[in-house]
Amino acid sequence: MSSTIGFIGLGHMGGPMAQNLVKAGHRLQVFDLVPQAVQGLVQAGATAAASAAAAVAGADVVVTMLPASRHVEGLYLGEDGLLTAIAPRALVLECSTIAPESARKVSAAAAQRGIRMLDAPVSGGTGGAVAGTLTFIVGGAAADLESARPYLQAMGKNIFHAGDAGAGQVAKICNNMLLGILMAGTAEALALGVANGLDPRTLSDIIAKSSGRNWATELYNPWPGVMENAPASKGYAGGFGVDLMLKDLGLAAEASMQARATTPLGELARNLYALHSAQGHGMLDFSSILKLYHQPR
Ligand code: NAD
Repeated sequence: MSSTIGFIGLGHMGGPMAQNLVKAGHRLQVFDLVPQAVQGLVQAGATAAASAAAAVAGADVVVTMLPASRHVEGLYLGEDGLLTAIAPRALVLECSTIAPESARKVSAAAAQRGIRMLDAPVSGGTGGAVAGTLTFIVGGAAADLESARPYLQAMGKNIFHAGDAGAGQVAKICNNMLLGILMAGTAEALALGVANGLDPRTLSDIIAKSSGRNWATELYNPWPGVMENAPASKGYAGGFGVDLMLKDLGLAAEASMQARATTPLGELARNLYALHSAQGHGMLDFSSILKLYHQPR
């Protein structure tokens, strides 16, 4: 079944996700603040909208993929927010990684207007977005998830229902706190091996088949030249930005304080990425955390 989909936020993740919805046969009305991002989608067959409100006009489904809570709240809420332009009964898939309270706030405002909304943050990186193999971690009503499934399946492979509104964000934040720790730990281990005379490729091959293996050693090695397609081999361009990881570790810290949980490694990782960002690397891929440990000669 072909639907009209309003898609807003066509960055590293949103761009390829929107492309996959076009490939699945849907009519896409797209908007981004960056005109080049919109052009890429128009070439793929989408229609450029003049504003976010124009993108959602007449849409059965709305998808947003924005940087952070303030962008999501700023777009949807308020007197002339997007919720006033979306048709009642439309289905909204909010895929950005944001604070669980923000997700709950926007979802409650949507429900007041009869709009069905799910928080559906993703995991799998830009590679997963391009390949259509993302993992969706969904919060909201089970019935709404069933309505959303065909659209999510066009962009991803694994779909999880974490719980009520906001629960998708809680699960996503836990995952990304672990990812931030694992990437810093992987960089630290590789730098230790190289400082002691090992070849980074040989050490990576060994770890990838030993008990220290993880997503970074399997798919996203932080050492330049070890994996041809990883951001590390492309000057740390593209991928998942340091400042986005820093945002997610900040969300983990907030969630930890609110629940009086204990997250010492998450806090340490947040400080490492904050230091790295302060050294001018905020826009690089997060695997560039290696630079804290190793300066190429
Ligand atoms: P990005 O910065 O590449 O893209 C965000 C896009 O949103 C930009 O093109 C920007 O112009 C647009 N935008 C911002 N405000 C807007 C507005 N008001 N109206 C229209 N467009 C607007 O970020 P990204 O890497 O695509 O990440 C998006 C979200 O996905 C973030 O929450 C991030 O944490 C999450 N995420 C990213 C990755 C990754 O690997 N990059 C993986 C999983 C989750």
